[in-house]
Amino acid sequence: MSVDSRGRYTPEVAGEVLPGSEGPAGSRSHNLNSTRRTSLMQEPVLVLNATYEPINVTAVRRAMVLMLKGVAQAEEMHNTEVHSAAHAHRVPSVIRLLAYRHIPQQSRALSRKNILLRDRNTCQFCVRVFPSSELTLDHVVPRSRGGRSTWENLVACCYRCNNSKGDRTPEEAGLKLARRPRPFTLHTSRQLMRLIGHRDERWRKYLFY
Ligand SMILES: [Zn+2]
Repeated sequence: MSVDSRGRYTPEVAGEVLPGSEGPAGSRSHNLNSTRRTSLMQEPVLVLNATYEPINVTAVRRAMVLMLKGVAQAEEMHNTEVHSAAHAHRVPSVIRLLAYRHIPQQSRALSRKNILLRDRNTCQFCVRVFPSSELTLDHVVPRSRGGRSTWENLVACCYRCNNSKGDRTPEEAGLKLARRPRPFTLHTSRQLMRLIGHRDERWRKYLFY
């Protein structure tokens, strides 16, 4: 099982099978069917800078490419393996870049995807969570009033709130922002990493301090 009844990954897919509870380590990999393998390759991996500072979250597939290229090394592993043509590879949970990478203060591109991520798919006016397809981006100060497309002036917004707001400021429309929109900083990223990391005990020591 890779997904529980609520559609979330269970700890089991993260390889957290107690030793001895399911045969010798590694034997589970033989049970990987293609669906399971695909979902495993998309599991999140925490990326640390050379200084152990958490900087990103990537997928197992990408993390393994970075390891094979010698760009990163595994710091924490799952108890699960994936097989390529000739080799079995243990699946990383946390990797660390071997060379220090300078991360600019505002490293995230301003994009619809990143704004929805920052706002956690929550309409910033009615504070309800929507699938991405049911959200749009709202200019807090409307473009017609000189509002710009910046991190501070764009928020996730459901179509209903967007319609009722129209070409007005939140105050004029009687709407209140859930919170002040801010750039997607490393601080924001780290909060998201913590949310994701609640699934994986191996991330804790790098994120919770
Ligand atoms: Zn709304």
